[in-house]
Amino acid sequence: MSQYTDGNPLLEMTGLPPFTAIRPEHVVPAVEHQLSQGRETVARLLDQPETPTWGNLMEPLEAIEHRLNRVWSPVTHLQAVADNEPLREAYNTCLPRLSAYHTELGQNERLYQACQRIAEGEEYGRLGVAERKIIDNALRDFRLSGVDLPPQERHRFKAISEELSRLKSRFQQNLLDATQSWKKHITDEARLEGLPDSTRALARQSAEREGLDGWLLTLDLPSYMPVVSYAADRELRREIYEAYVTRASDQGPDGGRWDNTPVMEATLRLRHEMARLLGFDNYAEYSLARKMARAPDEVLDFLRDLARRSRPMAERELATVQAYARAHGGPRHLEAWDVPYYSEQLRKHTYDFSQEDLRPYFPVPQVLAGIFEVVRRLFGLEIQGRRDVDVWHPDVSYFEIRGPAGEPRGSFYLDLYARPHKRGGAWMGKCIDRMKTGQRVTQPVAFVSCNFTPPVGDTPSLLTHQELTTLFHEFGHGLHHMLTRIDYPSVAGISGVAWDAMELPSQFLENWCWEREALNLVAGHYRNGAPLPEDIYTKMLAAKNFQTGMQMVRQLEFALFDFRLHLEYDPTQGPRIQSLLDEVREEVAVVRPPEFNRFAHGFLHIFGSGYAAGYYGYKWSEVLSSDAFGRFEETGLFAWETSQRFLHAILEQGGSRDAMELFVEFRGREPRIDALLRHSGIGA
Ligand code: ZN
Repeated sequence: MSQYTDGNPLLEMTGLPPFTAIRPEHVVPAVEHQLSQGRETVARLLDQPETPTWGNLMEPLEAIEHRLNRVWSPVTHLQAVADNEPLREAYNTCLPRLSAYHTELGQNERLYQACQRIAEGEEYGRLGVAERKIIDNALRDFRLSGVDLPPQERHRFKAISEELSRLKSRFQQNLLDATQSWKKHITDEARLEGLPDSTRALARQSAEREGLDGWLLTLDLPSYMPVVSYAADRELRREIYEAYVTRASDQGPDGGRWDNTPVMEATLRLRHEMARLLGFDNYAEYSLARKMARAPDEVLDFLRDLARRSRPMAERELATVQAYARAHGGPRHLEAWDVPYYSEQLRKHTYDFSQEDLRPYFPVPQVLAGIFEVVRRLFGLEIQGRRDVDVWHPDVSYFEIRGPAGEPRGSFYLDLYARPHKRGGAWMGKCIDRMKTGQRVTQPVAFVSCNFTPPVGDTPSLLTHQELTTLFHEFGHGLHHMLTRIDYPSVAGISGVAWDAMELPSQFLENWCWEREALNLVAGHYRNGAPLPEDIYTKMLAAKNFQTGMQMVRQLEFALFDFRLHLEYDPTQGPRIQSLLDEVREEVAVVRPPEFNRFAHGFLHIFGSGYAAGYYGYKWSEVLSSDAFGRFEETGLFAWETSQRFLHAILEQGGSRDAMELFVEFRGREPRIDALLRHSGIGA
């Protein structure tokens, strides 16, 4: 292992060998070792006779978590990119043990009291910003998990938490069962008119799997989306639409069979009760305790302001597609299952180019050189590959980032191509957090993963513009993780960042994909290096804002519904799910769904995942990233002073300070929605 001792992430402290040598049988013992070390250390720290301090309690706790993550992050990552049965089994064995360990820590009353003593002690005022933030966060999280409640209420709190997690999986299960139960068998190929070849192939495959002739349509997204968007057969579109929007409800073909209504009602009742136990007026306020937005009114005003400004444009867009449909033999009145179809027709008609036309201009080697150059011009950083670092697959490369004086800042593994046993999609993951122990600094390491088409023969991998944007997005998350200057993992990089501010660096970096000056760096025809032609660029820009008003009001409808549902819950009345949804639609929507539409019953984000009273965060962080980019539009795309300020105020600070405070430090004022509207072609 000695050849890996310089800069290799998987080194001391982990008990794991380099990636190529990690075997499933290493995993459980390595994790178990960290957990028992962690438990022993916590017990020893709490038994110290001395008054608890940052140095004798909090810093060692940070170190324990750091070591555990150094084992667990590579394992989690390997499981996602090089999955195999024994590894998954080892991974699944560890999951409940880790979750029990963290619950134990989060419910440890003595630990809570020790933290409190530090917060109230005279040392607190002398600590650095990051240290104080870690203590504040710890106290907040202890309180939000009910640790300081009187015994009886604490007992109730625990029962509610357990019931809520059961309801969450019940909701997911009902939705999954309802999604999987519906199938449409097609034997007459004429009914598939308009569907892309890939959708037909998928439908054929589904049919074969069930031993059927012809084609089988399902409610999975890769089947549902193309059918409502491209199928010329109106009745087919209506049928699949109805099945999709009534899943797990009292309506539609399976009405009542997996009805999520009682699950949703119980969830809302218990969330409200839980929030009240903790001293909040409602669950929306509880949700905001960990977010950048400060008060419910701030969220409501924000959403309503955006709605008011985007609705006229959304109405115009709908009128345009309606007129287009009428002129092309469509129905007089567009129903919900007609809008996506005629929108696609209109898009094709208006912008005569496809993502496929762009591929030759974005070969991966040029794209990487271009991104690295963008980062060099913005932040003065040099990025260089290293070949002597062990990786889990030959496609993977390893890069180091150095500052202007050659000082190391961080490194990343880049795993760009799709292959079997690799999870789909694109994501940035943490391999190692930045941690300072005495004089020694462990530099952060990231995993950047995508699923692009691999190179074939001598032809490099060629990206669409959408894929290019994805790469910039994940790289933005990566820079947030790697460029941090914070010494303690729980608030370094992306850790401890408010969820509604998390997408700021990633969406921010996406903006460069639309700027000519930056495109000149990342684009170059793979045969002759020719730049992206001006006419293609113009079309790209024009197509960028196709129906952005309609997309905006749709997101606002979901966000407003989610937030009001949790804010306005009244225990004497119970939740009013459908009537509230109707009310919100009345206020913001332009496409009015039919009576039978039961969108809420499939709203996985808020009932089956962690976004309750937080869906607004998508738009919130878009405002931040657009407004931050607005500063570059004012001062220049590569204005040194601006980019240095972004680096120091946002990227380097991680979660060590309040997201609003950091934003104001960069922008000189609080965020405004104007830039987002302008970038979306709305208003102004
Ligand atoms: Zn993201």
